[in-house]
Amino acid sequence: MHEFTEETAALARAIEAYAHARIAEPQPLDRTMSAAELTKLAGETITPGGIGGHEALRIWAEILAPATISTDHPANLAFVPAAPTKAAVLFDLVVGASSTIGAAWIDGAGGIWAENQALRWIADLAGLPDTAGGTFVSGGSAGNLAGLVAARTRSAAARPRPPDGWAVVTSVGAHASIEAAARLLDVELITVPGDALGRLRGDALRARLAELGPDVDRVVAVVATAGTTNAGLVDDLEGVGALCRERGLWFHVDAAYGGAALAAPSVRDRFRGIELADSLIVDPHKWLFAPYDCCALVYRDALAVARSGAFKQEASYLDSAAELERDEIGPWDLAYHLSRRIRGLPFWFSLATYGTDAYRDAVETVLELTRRAADEVRSRPELELVLEPELSVLLFRRRGWEPQDFESWWRRLLDEQVAFVQPTTWLGEKVARLCFVNPRTTLDHVRGILDTMR
Ligand SMILES: *Cc1c(COP(=O)(O)O)cnc(C)c1O
Repeated sequence: MHEFTEETAALARAIEAYAHARIAEPQPLDRTMSAAELTKLAGETITPGGIGGHEALRIWAEILAPATISTDHPANLAFVPAAPTKAAVLFDLVVGASSTIGAAWIDGAGGIWAENQALRWIADLAGLPDTAGGTFVSGGSAGNLAGLVAARTRSAAARPRPPDGWAVVTSVGAHASIEAAARLLDVELITVPGDALGRLRGDALRARLAELGPDVDRVVAVVATAGTTNAGLVDDLEGVGALCRERGLWFHVDAAYGGAALAAPSVRDRFRGIELADSLIVDPHKWLFAPYDCCALVYRDALAVARSGAFKQEASYLDSAAELERDEIGPWDLAYHLSRRIRGLPFWFSLATYGTDAYRDAVETVLELTRRAADEVRSRPELELVLEPELSVLLFRRRGWEPQDFESWWRRLLDEQVAFVQPTTWLGEKVARLCFVNPRTTLDHVRGILDTMR
């Protein structure tokens, strides 16, 4: 089991061939299936004697993979899909082939150094200072939680816990993970009414803070969203950030989906004020072409966060690994994790391979496709654009459709392997939603989907 035998070599060839095909050739969209169906088709796979690698691979390839949707299919426009580059996917194989750990600098130095270079690119795009740094966590949910833990730790070091507990302020458009993080942290979530489109604005935040009176001391952080998941809208980062600065409030920016567009000159001005963030998250596994699971968590002052002990795990055998040099902070001092795959490496490798210009161009390609798709919607009398896309999410209504029509529509599209799409709710109304992140999605894909709504 631990030796590389003739049998292992044969299995290696089979796996290499399978992986090669998945990377090199167009893959089906695939579908979803119930657990009962899967059990019936695949049977018992864990047995005392083992079923053998070839049989396990067959079950994966013939039964399980077809029941696992490909997020990078160009007609997958549901939720926020993905589009990892070839170099990123290839290097993921290398990460998998290497038994390395990125918990502390002492054992993960080379890998963490590479991760830090990739993080620096994001920090520079955002305009964060030299003190910025961070780590890669599993996803935006974990990143948001970490940012809020760091914020609460800073408040807790400065003043006693208020009798009514701590609070976080955000807007109605914030991702569900902010509410979940507040619940996990047992802090109250205070929401600020958004503008007509639900965006958080500096003036509305000022009014809400004034309403809070002395309760404002309970606030550990303000969370703004740079690219809402539902509609791709960017909050007033400049107004919110400036007010946070004025009040000494921690400014957390959730750019899990939208942060990729920092690389795109055509929309960069929408992010003005992001340079004021105390913590920032961007998911390269969404629109920066990295494989799962990869969220860049960046702090304005990484050393201060590490020194605050927000994530400290005390154990005598860990002490010697504590590294607090500015460029050698252990990822375990920056988020709640210890053992971790060096998950930023595929992203780093891809950035190094293609260069940042290619990233800029790929993000612009997606933005341009979104604009053309909006024009296509406008040209069809049965459809109506709900709002002008700010980034790459398109919301539109189908005149005359009831909510159940949207439901049967997306199921039919998936059954027929045309596309994977998910409707959403916008101001109480069921509408169609397409989210673009894949530069290989074409206007023809969009037309094919819109044709099914006639
Ligand atoms: C997707 C998303 C998240 C959650 O990210 P995961 O990587 O899925 O955990 C958080 N915030 C926003 C704005 C998102 O779009």
